[in-house]
Amino acid sequence: MPHALAGPEIERLIQLLARLPGLGPRSARRAALHLIKRREQLLAPLSDALRVANDRIVACGECGNVDTSNPCALCRDPRRDTSIMVVVEDVSDLWALERSGAVNGLYHVLGGVLSPLDGIRPEHLNLDRLVSRAGEPGMAEVILALNATVDGQTTAHYVTELLGHLSVRVTKLAHGVPVGGELDYLDEGTLSAAIRQRTAL
Ligand SMILES: [Zn+2]
Repeated sequence: MPHALAGPEIERLIQLLARLPGLGPRSARRAALHLIKRREQLLAPLSDALRVANDRIVACGECGNVDTSNPCALCRDPRRDTSIMVVVEDVSDLWALERSGAVNGLYHVLGGVLSPLDGIRPEHLNLDRLVSRAGEPGMAEVILALNATVDGQTTAHYVTELLGHLSVRVTKLAHGVPVGGELDYLDEGTLSAAIRQRTAL
């Protein structure tokens, strides 16, 4: 067991930081030291922001987004097109789509994807609410924006069947050449999907 570098409070800070995605023990130590050196400018405001976030963050009862109000700001925004709902696996996907500005509809966060290997079954996902929202009057299209993984596509298939009895149109994201991508670098699966889903100019 290595010697502790500092007192238990600082060691705890390092251990907690090391649990963040993208940070291992080494970068956690650097981050902790950075925070400690900038106690006034960074450590204190970060500590306050974490406390406030922890006190106020709630999951939106409508879409599953995280916000400090329920329903969330997106669900309450009157400028959004309520005839379109984009289904995503996780809040991070919702945020990515919002950053792109590509859709102005509503969202629905599933909270995961079906995964027999990980024991994630339909009852673990936010599916009941999805069916009732998709069946609301005025809902015209549900876009399945799920990851292009085996589990993501299995889930897309399952959701399509689940919504089959509704009059809503169910679509999914195209697979293909990324913007700025070079064909020579793409895998065969992506290339053949791009050919299959080719569009007229
Ligand atoms: Zn919401």
